[in-house]
Amino acid sequence: MKVPLLDLKPQYQSLKKELDEAILKVAESQYFILGPEMKKMEDACAEYLGAKHAIGVSSGTDALLLALMAIDIQPGDEVIVPTYSFFATAGVVSRLNAVPVLTECDPVTFNIDIEDIKRKITSKTKAIIPVHLYGQSSEMDEIMKIADQHNLFVIEDAAQAIGTQYKNGKSVGTIGHIGCFSFFPSKNLGCFGDGGLVTTNDDEIAKVLTIKRVHGGEPKYYHKVIGGNFRLDAIQAAVVSVKLPHLDSWSEKRRANAARYTKLFIAAGLAEETGKVKLDSKNKVLLPKAVYEHLSSSVKNYHIYNQYIIRVEDRDGLRDYLSKNDIGTEIYYPVPFHLQECFADLGHKKGDFPVSEFCANSSLALPIYPELNDDQLNFVVEKIADFIK
Ligand SMILES: *Cc1c(COP(=O)(O)O)cnc(C)c1O
Repeated sequence: MKVPLLDLKPQYQSLKKELDEAILKVAESQYFILGPEMKKMEDACAEYLGAKHAIGVSSGTDALLLALMAIDIQPGDEVIVPTYSFFATAGVVSRLNAVPVLTECDPVTFNIDIEDIKRKITSKTKAIIPVHLYGQSSEMDEIMKIADQHNLFVIEDAAQAIGTQYKNGKSVGTIGHIGCFSFFPSKNLGCFGDGGLVTTNDDEIAKVLTIKRVHGGEPKYYHKVIGGNFRLDAIQAAVVSVKLPHLDSWSEKRRANAARYTKLFIAAGLAEETGKVKLDSKNKVLLPKAVYEHLSSSVKNYHIYNQYIIRVEDRDGLRDYLSKNDIGTEIYYPVPFHLQECFADLGHKKGDFPVSEFCANSSLALPIYPELNDDQLNFVVEKIADFIK
């Protein structure tokens, strides 16, 4: 049996007719950049997310860069980011010659550690970028409280979390000042290339985002400010419009797959429950946990499982073994920012962020995409049990 980490073909096959038609329609219109297809997608996303403004952009990375430019981040400004995330979260800060101030992650959720944010705030801090890693919301109440106290912007990196809800039922990306999304093909809502979205409920910020998306000209060719080319193309917008109505059903399937994995791991005696943070003889596999979900039906914390991440002792050995059995996995993320060569000037060393280092050394992403069947999930857990026992 083959279990790839991700297979986009079944999703395409299920929507092939609509997707092909949408792309042809763009070809016939010869209207390729921004335009009516993008506006349609922006309106649909704004409504889906419950955001006042949704603005299509060229990628998730550009969404973050544009967001920082919109709040006028200057050289030397400090922006608090987690050390354990996808590179773009910190890379965009450095590209503006601002300073990414690295923070530890929470051992249960993998998201930014609230107490460490408090320790890292200085008079130069301008913004916090919480990342809703793997599809689960960061602790936004606490983050917004800190931001209010210190007059900071909050830019949510929701690249892995379109459709994720915080415990108050709000969509992530609409809680901070700006939300950033990615339509990269491997994200839960992927287009046919690069694409992204920024959201905000602030009219003034929305205006700046829109102007800086096209070089900062307002009117065209007259520049009070400098922006970039952060334009989205119409084909990508058309693809997103076709797929968006199906997103919730895909998220439900991902959640069902996650629940099945969890049940199987516990039944196999490899773990006692979700959310354990220490490997021991009864927990040879640490399972991801959707926090707060148990509280009540009105209190949500809707985890969309962009990834299902386990942590194990001999991660690299397990990965090799699974690969030999045709099971695809990935390591997110093997090197936290504080140990990346390009961030050496931040002055960190090994041991500075033990939780993040533990995650980087032990995490393994298992196949979780919606179209997987039960036999495939059973096979994955069986093979993991074989290796560990
Ligand atoms: C994918 C991702 C990005 C970047 O999105 P792109 O569309 O690939 O540029 C940023 N942050 C996180 C956490 C991501 O997973």
